[in-house]
Amino acid sequence: MSSYYSPSIEKLIEGFEKLPSIGHKTAIRLAFHILDASQEEVTEFIEAIKNAKTNLKYCSQCFNISDTDPCPICASPKRDKTIICVVEDVKDVIAMERTHEFKGVYHVLHGSISPMNGIGPDEIKIKELLQRIQDNKEIKEIIVATNPRVEGEATAMYISKILKPLGVKVTRIAHGIPVGGDLEYTDEITLTKALEGRHEF
Ligand SMILES: [Zn+2]
Repeated sequence: MSSYYSPSIEKLIEGFEKLPSIGHKTAIRLAFHILDASQEEVTEFIEAIKNAKTNLKYCSQCFNISDTDPCPICASPKRDKTIICVVEDVKDVIAMERTHEFKGVYHVLHGSISPMNGIGPDEIKIKELLQRIQDNKEIKEIIVATNPRVEGEATAMYISKILKPLGVKVTRIAHGIPVGGDLEYTDEITLTKALEGRHEF
């Protein structure tokens, strides 16, 4: 297929098109935006991408993404280490933090159980959660805040089942969040209510 653009621009457009929710037209617009930007702006942008990829690591305790290990949340003396909120994604940690209501710590699963997509419990950080609870007898409550979709519910059920023998209290956030919705896109008030209305399995 022939292209109207020079190979360098074509390559840039292709790069942008690989990003989530960027269509062909937006990719073209972004590519030309980069071409119009100053050398300094472009260098700064490239450095930001490079640094994020090089410096960011997983927190060895909660698997949040952070510049430091442990992450600032796990390292903070102000956080209650006896309550763990289990979320699917790093973006869900941000959503929960925005509510300023949760004072405990997190556990990021990095996915949800989805047999349809070949993702079983071993593919996400469930073993690590189990280990964490076994290693720390102080832990009082596990709040399962996976998304209210089929996969999120299946993951929540699985977690409650495997944690039951450990004698730890396992709760599920209330259904203030629209079914099929994402924590990430839920407003702070709804998320706070969901957290407050959590119930035991
Ligand atoms: Zn952490």
